[in-house]
Amino acid sequence: MDNHKLSFNGQILHTPYPFSDAYNSLSMPVYLTAAYEFDTAEEMEAAFIGKSANHTYSRITNPTVQYFENRVQNITGALSVTALNSGMAAISNAIITLAQTGSNIVTSRHLFGNTYSFFANTMASFGVETRFCDLTNPYEVEAHIDANTCAIFLEIITNPQLEVADLKALSAIAKQIGVPIVADTTIIPFCAFKAKDWGINIEIVSSTKYISGGATSLGGLIIDYGNFNWLSSPKLHTLAKEFGPAAYTVKLRKEIHRNLGAYMTPQVAYMQNLGLETLSIRYERSTKTCQQLSERLVKVPKVESVNYTGLPFNSFHALSNSQFGERPGAMFTFNLASREACFSFLNKLKLIKRATNLFDNKTLAIHPASTIFGNFTEAVRRDMHVSDKTIRISVGLEEVEDLFRDINQALL
Ligand SMILES: *Cc1c(COP(=O)(O)O)cnc(C)c1O
Repeated sequence: MDNHKLSFNGQILHTPYPFSDAYNSLSMPVYLTAAYEFDTAEEMEAAFIGKSANHTYSRITNPTVQYFENRVQNITGALSVTALNSGMAAISNAIITLAQTGSNIVTSRHLFGNTYSFFANTMASFGVETRFCDLTNPYEVEAHIDANTCAIFLEIITNPQLEVADLKALSAIAKQIGVPIVADTTIIPFCAFKAKDWGINIEIVSSTKYISGGATSLGGLIIDYGNFNWLSSPKLHTLAKEFGPAAYTVKLRKEIHRNLGAYMTPQVAYMQNLGLETLSIRYERSTKTCQQLSERLVKVPKVESVNYTGLPFNSFHALSNSQFGERPGAMFTFNLASREACFSFLNKLKLIKRATNLFDNKTLAIHPASTIFGNFTEAVRRDMHVSDKTIRISVGLEEVEDLFRDINQALL
């Protein structure tokens, strides 16, 4: 049966194995092995130099991990998918593939905490500059780009500010200048957002979140759409002459990911494969609950404001709607009167868990300023627009009534 005619769930569930399993196992087995045996020296040589697709060593490829990658590749239509052992491993591998001393990255201050620190501290120490600007202002973005810009990096909905950049405007600029767009799409999974259609060249996902679902494991994905002309990349220019649009994948798979050694493990790939099978169903359910819950909280007196781009009065509503559909993810924030009011609210919760992480099956609440951003100075937090009055909710699979009741009693 032609796989591409199937819907999202059909394709995910019925992606064939790349190699048939010896026992006709219905689920892709967990291949817990570090290395692979060969019958002859010739076959061994062919595998090691990439002339055959056989596995050699599980830091480089592994059948269980490869099956997870294949499923994502099949559903996204990407040129290549690389599974790493966390979202941060995906971000660091993706950026190191592109950046070299003297490069700069144009991005926003509205970033996941460790991503910000990776740019501002880790990459800076290797002579890679990060230029923070307002990604919702295309003119400002253009003004920050020069011949050494190796990427525009963005999160499609920032966390916890919930800011949305105009992807059409950004990709038009990026295309004209010849700079790739690297986007972290963790907030809206590929069952609801087709990154390739919006001009994204390299998509990054923390699969710890929606894909794992039950918060079973950490994982990250680098999805290369093969839609960028790497001749304009200072670092990949030479490779692009030989490999064309595959230059990025060649650099990543043949050098960077092997050398950094952060490949996903087979046990984790097994769990993430299971999560993938229910992704679109869980997404539908939790985003519907998120929409209902945020609408109801708008009317609660102690809640000063509610931030969710699915709300009609939200300043990013129309843009969010056009890019991500009617239900833009299962995370929203709201503001209370003070930091003390936030702490009191969190301490009174009975059902909702006080925890970091996003898109667990259980609903989670956190005060971002004192936790995820707790190690930043107050000045940096101000620059990042992380307020002391904000609570972030990641909506899970409970009934909306149960969640609303818990929030209401905790606000008393
Ligand atoms: C969680 C998260 C990350 C980091 O992913 P890990 O799997 O925790 O390493 C990166 N970006 C966003 C938007 C995230 O939510």
